[in-house]
Amino acid sequence: MTEDAKPEREAGQDFIRDIVKADIDAGRHKTVVTRFPPEPNGYLHLGHAKSICLNFGIAQEFGGRCHLRFDDTNPTKEEQEYIDAIERDVRWLGFDWGKHLYHASDYFEQLYDWAVGLIRAGKAYVDDQSPDDMRVARGTLTEPGRNSPFRDRSVDENIDLFKRMRAGEFPNGARVLRAKIDMASGNINLRDPVLYRILHASHPRTGTAWYIYPSYDYAHGQSDAIEGVTHSVCTLEFADHRPLYDWCLDNIPVPSRPRQYEFARLNVTHTILSKRVLTELVRGGHVAGWDDPRMPTMAGLRRRGVPPAALRDFVKRVGVAKAYSIVDAGLLDFSVREVLNKSAQRRMAVLKPLKVVIENYPEGQSEELDAINHPEDASLGSRKVPFGRELYIEADDFMESPPKKFFRLSPGKEVRLRYAYFITCKEVVKDASGAITELRCTYDPATKGGNAPDGRKVQATIHWVSVAHAVKAEVRLYDQLFAKADPDAANFAADLNPASLEVLSDARLEPAIAADNSDAAVQFERLGYFCRDPESTPAKLIINRTTGLRDTYAKAAAPVAGGGKPGGGKK
Ligand code: ATP
Ligand code: MG
Repeated sequence: MTEDAKPEREAGQDFIRDIVKADIDAGRHKTVVTRFPPEPNGYLHLGHAKSICLNFGIAQEFGGRCHLRFDDTNPTKEEQEYIDAIERDVRWLGFDWGKHLYHASDYFEQLYDWAVGLIRAGKAYVDDQSPDDMRVARGTLTEPGRNSPFRDRSVDENIDLFKRMRAGEFPNGARVLRAKIDMASGNINLRDPVLYRILHASHPRTGTAWYIYPSYDYAHGQSDAIEGVTHSVCTLEFADHRPLYDWCLDNIPVPSRPRQYEFARLNVTHTILSKRVLTELVRGGHVAGWDDPRMPTMAGLRRRGVPPAALRDFVKRVGVAKAYSIVDAGLLDFSVREVLNKSAQRRMAVLKPLKVVIENYPEGQSEELDAINHPEDASLGSRKVPFGRELYIEADDFMESPPKKFFRLSPGKEVRLRYAYFITCKEVVKDASGAITELRCTYDPATKGGNAPDGRKVQATIHWVSVAHAVKAEVRLYDQLFAKADPDAANFAADLNPASLEVLSDARLEPAIAADNSDAAVQFERLGYFCRDPESTPAKLIINRTTGLRDTYAKAAAPVAGGGKPGGGKK
């Protein structure tokens, strides 16, 4: 099921912002405080980008602040590499937490004290049941749970056991601390949820100071309260946890009273936004790493040349809603084109080269021709492009026996070389196997700059590079990582697209592309947007295709973006 991702309201408006605004207007809060709370167990993906834009965006719009808080309560899965990557990605997306960088682990001591308080109040107990027995006793959606035989332990015994859990006296899984709420509750989250579990594991920040770690449900709301978070925004899966979030806040002497609000998580076709699956893609070698340009991670998108403004634009178009939906992956490409069409400099490159010899151009001669860097933005200036007797054109721009509608180069036909001259194809040279090895052409020196003084027209303008000056590169073309629009997260390997990467090893670029050291994407005229891969070396230039020029997002209501004329437009 794919749904049009049209924003339902005016840009920047959604039900969460309505709630925030109403709270401010009614004087319930002076300052809005939100947080983005990633667990550092993987790299951030498109879904997180949505959450970041929402939380930081609300703080910006309402003059409040947004905290970056690492939800670091499970040391067995969390790593410093992920912490660093998350900070880098949030900054790259354009947001700043200032001095408000926090960790759930900053609060471990306070959380422990509050847990002891719950025990003293008879609202928490140490349970010795095995994990399996606990699962069975929890009941089902249709059956109530059963009380644990350890539920009515004395306060003193509970405190003694909890202290010894902390001291590391018991092995993993031997005991847990549970809230004493209601084993018959219709909401399974309230059937005496686990607050603490034993884990003998070293933590990236607290080292081996702790042998017990709080559950997400216990740590999250209290962390929000400690930081003075006013609006704790999360995805819909947590709606059923809200009564527990509130129970904790109601039963613990917290310094402030945050509220939880839920919105629908982002889903995008041809991808799986789950850190578990993304981790398996990396570990299983299905991709080259977390920043593989086919990955829906921010690191992958960045490496593919997607500018952060395009991601923010995409998130804005998707909007914030309570209803589940799947967004067409083409909408992201649409945003990328919108942004890059305006900002990306134009260059010429030939992906599949075919040699052209201009027979009437003097041997050993070359010249520099003026090429503009952007057709709509004169402030980006122009550059010189070298021209000579031998050129490469795109193999696809020539046909020996063209059909009627083919307007580009063919025997006897005249076309314009962009920024250069009119050329006419005189002869096709082939090797012994019959493959075309070069074209012999002539040029008209009077057409310099691309116009004929006698007013004659050509039907196509094609791009080219000079053989003597071109720089060789490997160009990587990316397609969807998953062939299926709705890949199966449980068996994702079967849905992978075997053709998600195409490597062109013999591309030729105009020298200005190789001379440019920036990672920013440029438009290769008539081909798409491309950027330098960070793994390029002086000996081997690697170029990634960010996206093509053509709009494949059929359902987009907005006009087609793109400043080029794919496939050789008429002039
Ligand atoms: P995953 O499901 O990929 O493992 P997660 O929810 O476990 O993600 P967290 O690190 O806990 O990852 O997420 C940090 C924040 O990002 C949470 O507030 C979460 O709700 C939000 N978030 C995660 N995935 C999405 C998504 N697909 N759309 C919107 N928000 C998301
Ligand atoms: Mg999570």
